[in-house]
Amino acid sequence: MRRRNASNPDLPSPPDLPSFTVAADVETSERPARSGRSHHPSHHGEDNRHGAKRSERDHDGERHDATGLLRHDAPLDEASIDADAARVVQRLERAGFQAYLVGGCVRDLLLGGRPKDFDVATSARPDDVRSLFRNCRIIGRRFRLAHVLFGGGKVVEVATFRRNPTSLSGDGDAEDLDDDLLIRSDNVFGEAHEDALRRDFTINALFYDLDRRQVLDWCGGMPDIQAKTIRTIGEPAVRFREDPVRILRAIKFAARLDLGIDPAVYDAMVGSRFELARAARPRIFEEILRLMRMGSSHRSMWLMWEMGAMAVLMPELSAFLDDDEATAGGSFRFFKKMRLIDERTRAGGALDDIVLMTALFYDPLEEAAQGMRDLVSAVNDFLEPVIDRIAMPRRIADAIRRIVVMVPRIIAGRSGRFTRTELFLPALEVAELVLASRGESTSALEVLRREAMPTSATREPRRTSSFPRQRGVRR
Ligand code: ATP
Ligand code: MG
Repeated sequence: MRRRNASNPDLPSPPDLPSFTVAADVETSERPARSGRSHHPSHHGEDNRHGAKRSERDHDGERHDATGLLRHDAPLDEASIDADAARVVQRLERAGFQAYLVGGCVRDLLLGGRPKDFDVATSARPDDVRSLFRNCRIIGRRFRLAHVLFGGGKVVEVATFRRNPTSLSGDGDAEDLDDDLLIRSDNVFGEAHEDALRRDFTINALFYDLDRRQVLDWCGGMPDIQAKTIRTIGEPAVRFREDPVRILRAIKFAARLDLGIDPAVYDAMVGSRFELARAARPRIFEEILRLMRMGSSHRSMWLMWEMGAMAVLMPELSAFLDDDEATAGGSFRFFKKMRLIDERTRAGGALDDIVLMTALFYDPLEEAAQGMRDLVSAVNDFLEPVIDRIAMPRRIADAIRRIVVMVPRIIAGRSGRFTRTELFLPALEVAELVLASRGESTSALEVLRREAMPTSATREPRRTSSFPRQRGVRR
């Protein structure tokens, strides 16, 4: 499965991503099997593998024996740290609580990227946080989080340390696992180190201590940042069974941040892919959109197809891509379309969700509708199981239904009455993607676009970042 196109030279070549495969000489670990839960005897020993420059710094790290904490002197560029998030941390600390920047923002800053948002983890309980910040609202029923609100819709999420509710023992042999590892609620408060270990990947479990300008590492996230490797905290098969959405998250981080996936982790993703059918479907839908919104849909969809998650979640699309002969190069056109989406996203921010979803399913939808007299019911028959399987919201499904009827007419120069409907611009965007993916000219459509948007001939620049943003549903 992994070498799909080595065995079939007709299929499109994989994205040019050498780091998707972790080289054998990059850290193979002496990690304990349940590294997430054990103390870490090996980290000092591992330092030299990441080069002389790092080792000196790492040897300066302080180890806390009770929890396996390693502190790295790794000051992050202060100018890149959001000032409001820093103020939240400082106020919590002044009130006597522990508080750190955590998760994606620390990871992105260490990798040299621009964080999408800044999250804070603290020993303070949600009510403590509320009493410290006037501009604060508590969200979530089962697990309560504090959102501290700033101007322009910016939200700093402040979460109390919590721990993984499942208590797993032993070495986590995947074959012996019972079926019910799936985490359904995770509302147990804990300590800082427990909060690190309940996270999904080591690179996502780093905390930043603003005061001491140190990165706190309980599970080997720092060496994985340096090796640009995605590795689960603890036994991969267990962690993917607990929450199969993590499979899609691994794909997202690999694609977006150009990271390699540890081979054992990759194998566990493949081995656990059918678990995706058990995950909460709205989370799946949201995660598919996230794969496409950040300029890495091509790599994401390629990985998803290659490792078999697509066959579980979107079998219509996966089968279409598999059958390159019958579709006369359909997979080539599909991946070209994904590449075009990424180019547009990089140039002007995330495309509308409706455009992304229509573009994603357009080719198999077009195939399903081919030669059918009743186009509307052919499209409905195609979409119904999709809506059900990935909880596609009706609003989006309805838009797709209307757009797939409009696109062939737009391409044929017969957009007529559609030009005045609210879906005309998204339909035009899909039509452009479809034509360009076939290597055909889009100049006629550009004329239509100018007519539809007389005041601005080009597309409105879109926001690339969702910070400030509305925060989505979180686990
Ligand atoms: P992004 O840049 O896409 O926001 P992120 O890493 O910040 O990436 P979030 O979904 O915002 O991802 O989650 C914040 C943090 O919460 C993660 O960094 C990770 O530590 C933890 N987390 C999120 N989802 C999970 C999960 N399914 N299992 C365990 N930990 C998770
Ligand atoms: Mg985030």
